[in-house]
Amino acid sequence: MTRIVHVNGRFLPETEAVVSVFDRGFLMADAVYEVTAVLDGRLCDFSGHLARLRRSLDELGIANPMDESEWLALHRELVARNGLVEGLVYLQVSRGSAGDRDFVFPPEGTPPTVVLFTQAKPQLVDNPQAKKGLRVISLEDLRWARRDIKTVQLLPSSLAKMQAKAAGVDEAWFVQDGFVTEGTSNNAHIVLGDRLVTRPRTNEILHGITRASVLQLAAEAGLMVEERPFSVPEAQSADEVFITSASSFVIPVIELDGVAIGTGHVGPLAVKLREIYVEALRRTAL
Ligand code: PMP
Repeated sequence: MTRIVHVNGRFLPETEAVVSVFDRGFLMADAVYEVTAVLDGRLCDFSGHLARLRRSLDELGIANPMDESEWLALHRELVARNGLVEGLVYLQVSRGSAGDRDFVFPPEGTPPTVVLFTQAKPQLVDNPQAKKGLRVISLEDLRWARRDIKTVQLLPSSLAKMQAKAAGVDEAWFVQDGFVTEGTSNNAHIVLGDRLVTRPRTNEILHGITRASVLQLAAEAGLMVEERPFSVPEAQSADEVFITSASSFVIPVIELDGVAIGTGHVGPLAVKLREIYVEALRRTAL
């Protein structure tokens, strides 16, 4: 089946969809995005993703082209047109195109460019990495200082992911001034006894939607949530370590910079949190 994508109000086969070469997203990474998981054909943590989209757009002064109900209807229509049961919806809004390249923003009223597409991921829930755990290396965080805005400037993250691959591991964590910021495309967490330690929401990390949901569920399950930075050695000696993101939910980390974490196997708490989170998603998805 040909994938149907959405561009500026139109549903088209992916091979026919086009965006201007002068689009600010293409030339200047002047665009924000969201990735929403789809389970049972329904949208996960959708209001959180829409709230963050609104915030990213506000921070960059890009007009939000749709209200909440329009975004929801658009996502649902795209999921339906692609028969998507389990996977992701990618959404991108750029500042649009003024028909030329210029550092100055396009004139007021220039319409943003809206692109959405689906990605089928039949193993979103049944993810083999959730059973195996991840091996991670740490790398210096070379990204800009506004990581709380979900822009499409993903080159440092992509390069870090390739460095991890070249090192024969699964993922990279960024480190700044001796403390872990986050993963290339996920938030980082450690467990010390009955405490879940995670970096607070500042401009230094993306405010993960999965992070917020999992922290709430963890607190409800009796864990103390401590929002503070942690170092690589602290993570290496933690009882458990895990990551969160919309596309991976909760995945245990079993090794950091060559040091085995805990028993060196997937820990029970990460497994439990993943289970609880997936159950919650199936109940609340729209
Ligand atoms: N941090 C970064 C840098 C990310 O790219 C992502 C995923 N987009 C996350 C954290 C996790 O955010 P979420 O749970 O909203 O997917």
